[in-house]
Parts: sequence; C-alpha cells; structure tokens
Amino acid sequence: MKSITLLGATGSIGLRTLDLVSSFPEEFSVAGLAARGSNVERVADLCKKYSPRAVALLEADARDQLARLLPAPRPELLAGPDGLVALARDVKADIVVSALVGGAGLLPTMAAIQAGRTVALANKETLVMAGRLMTAAARARGVKLLPVDSEHSAVFQCLAGHSRADVHRILLTASGGPFRETPKARLATVTVEDALQHPTWKMGAKITIDSATLMNKGLEVIEARWLFDVASDQVQIVVHPQSIVHSMVEYIDGCVIAQLGVADMGVPILYALTYPERRPMPTARLDLVRAGQLTFYEPDLDKFPCLRLARTALDSVSSAPVVLNAANEVAVAAFLDRRIGFNAIAELIEEALNTSRAGELDSIEACTAVDADTRRSVQRAIDTRHGARPS
Ligand code: NAD
Ligand code: MG
Repeated sequence: MKSITLLGATGSIGLRTLDLVSSFPEEFSVAGLAARGSNVERVADLCKKYSPRAVALLEADARDQLARLLPAPRPELLAGPDGLVALARDVKADIVVSALVGGAGLLPTMAAIQAGRTVALANKETLVMAGRLMTAAARARGVKLLPVDSEHSAVFQCLAGHSRADVHRILLTASGGPFRETPKARLATVTVEDALQHPTWKMGAKITIDSATLMNKGLEVIEARWLFDVASDQVQIVVHPQSIVHSMVEYIDGCVIAQLGVADMGVPILYALTYPERRPMPTARLDLVRAGQLTFYEPDLDKFPCLRLARTALDSVSSAPVVLNAANEVAVAAFLDRRIGFNAIAELIEEALNTSRAGELDSIEACTAVDADTRRSVQRAIDTRHGARPS
C-alpha cells in the first residue's frame, strides 16, 4: 500500500488522482490533502471519503470552517503557506503529488524533496522557477522526481532503458490550443470563453489559458530542460493537434521513440504513482484506426510570442524564468478577470523581462523574492494601464 500526500487536492489533477485512489483501494491510501480552501464543503467530503491524517488549507478561516464540518476524530488541520509546507514535510507519505497551480507550490514541493519524499510533479511552475535548485536538492537527497505532465511522462517513458548520452533531442508535442487556426489579427479580441475552450484536454483555468497563449509549451520546454538535464536547444516543439503522440525522443542514430495514448491525465498520474510498475487503466484506450490521421507541424512563434519569451528566459540568467513565470501568472489572472486583453499577456511578460534586474539566483529565498517583486510590478503596470481593481 502506497500512502499519498496530495497538494492541490480539489483541482483537476488532484481530483483525477483521487479517482485513481478510489479505483485502486488496495494499492493507495491518502496521507495528507492540501488545497486553497475556496470550497470547504468539497474538502470536507474528500476527508470523509479518503480519511487523510492531515489537511492543510491556505486560508485559516477555511481551516476553522472545515473543523466545524468534520466530526471527531478529525484529521490534523493546518493552515497558511507554512501549514502546506508542514504537511509536505512532516506527514509521513510514500509519495507527494505536487499539483498546486503556480508558484504557490514551490515551498511545499521543496519541503517534500528535502524530507526525502518521492515527488510526482504536475506543478511545472516550480521547476520553471527553481529548476536547478530543485533538481540539485533531489539529487542530493536521492529523491525521485516523477513527471505527471503528459509530455514529460511520455519523454520519461521513451528514455527508459536508453543511455542519456545517446539522446539527440526531445520532441515535445503541443495540441496548438484553441487558437491554432485563428488568424493572428483576431487574437486581440478573443474572449475568456474562447480561450477556455481547449480542443483536447480538460484542465484548470490557468493552464488552459497557458495552452491558448502556448506559454504552457514554453513552460514545458523549461520543465524538460531540468527534468531530463538536456540543453535548451535539445528540446524542440512539434504541433500535433490530435494529442495522441504525447512526446518523442530522437536518438543519435536517428531512431525516434514515441509514446502514444488517449488524452487522459489519469494515465501519466497512474504511471507516476505505480512507477516502475504499470497497472491496467480502467478507462478508454487508444484506437489508432479510429484516430485516423496524425499530423505534425512547426509552431508559429510570430503568432504565439510566449513561446519565444520562454525560450529566451531559459537561455538567460536564472532570474529570468522566475520573472517570466510570475508575470505570466499575474497577467493570466488579470485576463481571467477580464481586466486585460489576450495579447496583453505576452506584452506584460515581455515588459517584465525587459525591466527586471537580471541575476543568478542561488537560493529558494532569492527565487521567492524575485517572484514577489515581479508580481508587484506587473500588478502595478496593469493597474496603471487598465485602472485599479474596484474594491
Ligand atoms: P487547478 O486550478 O484545477 O487546481 C489547483 C489546485 O491547487 C486546487 O486544489 C487549488 O485549491 C490549489 N491551490 C491553488 N492555489 C493555491 C494556493 N495559493 N495555496 C494552496 N492551494 C492552492 O489546476 P490543475 O489544472 O489541476 O493544475 C495543477 C498543476 O498541474 C499546474 O501546475 C498545471 O500546470 C499542472 N498540469 C495540469 C494538467 C491538467 O490536466 N490539469 C496537466 C499537466 C500539468
Ligand atoms: Mg503538458
């Protein structure tokens, strides 16, 4: 029986992970759950169903509300960013699923690594912010970082049994998002609803917008660079609208190994949970004959500047990806709030990268300081340009 601490329990990845716990009750148990706490009833239901030993919610009020909803004996209840860190670090678990969204996951994920726990990583923003420090900490503690992101799970599987020295390049596939066929001139006026219509994957709002700007793929290039210890120019993006080939590895002899499957995050999540073993997946399977044609082409960097910005940040000093990520998070939130247009997301990120003080970051504290600074300055830029948020 493997015990799981789940950071981001109420999200898209979190709930899919819990579905798998329900499908394999003899394999998995839940040690800890963490979430923002915006839906306390939901968290209470999850506690009743999965009996975690501890729960951490971002908001203290939500924790108190949860205490009232749960009959004794109740799990240990923690709150605040420190509560999330304590949950990841102190609650005994065989694996920590890191599935918070955004930079909020950095400190709890680092705490899990430093406590020596295997991490199943969905929260790509943490690697974007602190890839070098996180992978170094994992190596130092002998901790496995198992990818949950479907492309990275695919690459991880394509690398199995091969020598890293024989890798020529990684080919990350991208669906192209909802605006793949949209003319560039139309992007200025697309709505939040348009951007939330992802063609192949059902995901949380932030990553769905990242998929529309293609920043998601930019973040994934950085994620691949750190997870697989390859150079930035060894990671190439291939647009593949069917989302059937989840990614590929090309070797020095020209052989390309691909991993294929249906678009269901349950597959990479289950593989991370059972690695190095596999289990029969109780959902849909790939039918290549019904899938028909598989197509591939180059991404349009002119139409999707976020891809170019992510690559530039990766090739720059280590503060740049932190700035990229923080600016993107603030800009995406403002777009979802309907305060800025779609094209302003990339504009704000570019401005933040051009105006930030660039430098090398040698500690997590330095990363969180650059993160906080960038958030403040991008928020200020939005308020100046588009008026302060009504209180
Ligand atoms: P989501 O928005 O559906 O869920 C996020 C979860 O994190 C929720 O439980 C929320 O309560 C919690 N959370 C958010 N901010 C928090 C904070 N400040 N403190 C504490 N808890 C907080 O997101 P998601 O789609 O499940 O994505 C999670 C992560 O996985 C992201 O990094 C995303 O890029 C990555 N990912 C998601 C998918 C997918 O299919 N959804 C695929 C690949 C990678
Ligand atoms: Mg992905």
